[in-house]
Amino acid sequence: MGSTEGIDPSQSFVLPRLQSAGTASNLALNEQIIQMIANGKKVYHFAFGQSPFPVADGARKALVNHASKNAYLPVAGLLELRAQICEFHSELDGLHELDPNLVVVGPGTKQLIFLLVQVFNGDVFILSPTWITYKPITNLAGKHVTEINSSREDSWKLTSDALEKALSSSNSSSHKLLIFCNPDNPTGTSYTAEELIALSVVLRKHKVVVLSDEIYGHTKYDGEFLSLAKYYPEGTIISSGLSKCFSAGGWRCGYNIYPKELSEIYKAVCSAASNTHSCAPAPMQYAALDLFKLSEDTREYIKGCRCIMGAVAKMCHRELDGVGVKAILPVGGYYIFPDFEILRPVFKKRGISTCQQMCDVLFREQNVAVMPGGPGFMRPVNELTVRLCFVNFDGGAALAAWRKQGCNEELDQQFLEDYCTMAVHGIQAIVDWVKKLQASG
Ligand code: PMP
Repeated sequence: MGSTEGIDPSQSFVLPRLQSAGTASNLALNEQIIQMIANGKKVYHFAFGQSPFPVADGARKALVNHASKNAYLPVAGLLELRAQICEFHSELDGLHELDPNLVVVGPGTKQLIFLLVQVFNGDVFILSPTWITYKPITNLAGKHVTEINSSREDSWKLTSDALEKALSSSNSSSHKLLIFCNPDNPTGTSYTAEELIALSVVLRKHKVVVLSDEIYGHTKYDGEFLSLAKYYPEGTIISSGLSKCFSAGGWRCGYNIYPKELSEIYKAVCSAASNTHSCAPAPMQYAALDLFKLSEDTREYIKGCRCIMGAVAKMCHRELDGVGVKAILPVGGYYIFPDFEILRPVFKKRGISTCQQMCDVLFREQNVAVMPGGPGFMRPVNELTVRLCFVNFDGGAALAAWRKQGCNEELDQQFLEDYCTMAVHGIQAIVDWVKKLQASG
């Protein structure tokens, strides 16, 4: 028999555009670090962003009570849950026109965003920097991506000018989908009413469909969260779920809410869902129903998480800023996106020019793990930005202490040192490192 028979492993069976795609870099790095910590290594783990808080008690009990729910649910999700989700956004976000028949619940929003991009007939626009997953999702779906650049001077926000430029210089005649993250991962930035109104003018002019990823909406530390759907309802698909303000990422339960003008896309996504994941897990949907009913306990839980994360965010920003590491003060979420440009002269002498090299040195010298900005976040390789996730503490203990001290009091440095210890010490390790490098330079 000739060697042409049988499977030849040296040949690639994978589509060319996917041959170099690895596991999502954040998940891969997290697995590595968890293993190191399990082997006894001390690591300040700022490289993975999931809620540090336990799931609220009521939701945990509801999940236990519904463990026997083993039947498939409707593809779009339990109707009662879809109605409750609309109520939730009506009460908290002032969105009163949402229709439960245009809500699709799925096994995480990642999956729902992927299906949207997959069925969408047109090109995709993404801000740089933004969440590392959007670009791989569009690549997986075989769609063309246009990146829109932003800068720290503009608080890493999408400006109406940049949006107008990107949309009007695109030579594609097909439809346009903008993926918009608010509050943003990795920069922690969020948009004011004026900014959203200015963006809406441009979006309306160019008839853009927007996936507004608002999964961090109710993690916003202070003040109310403003959804793009308030200003551009006809073109906005709201994306959210249980992973952030309810701390249940591993439950894999998210949803997208479509406006009636985009019901054609909604139907196509539901059809794709029916032929791929069938429905989101049943017990989680029943437990989610309890969460979205917003009991007093759930409200207090959300308030506590926001208050603690806000205090940690301010501490990170203040300490880094104190040694000249510039960042935008996050207003929601779990991330800060500092720029270590101040160390460039010292790094130059040490032959370090890329963000990845800098992160490797930081890990080696201070046991601090952060994710490099760079291409993962659609940033230049030599920009010295990193994503730092300030979630390396026991959120359960912090929440209990917050309740004990009376819920409404400001959290001081002592609270952070007592209950967010690894976050405080990890930031201190970075500060010491910056000082040491500057002194040596
Ligand atoms: N959107 C953003 C911006 C995120 O940061 C994440 C999680 N890191 C998700 C969506 C994931 O959501 P889900 O768990 O619903 O898939």
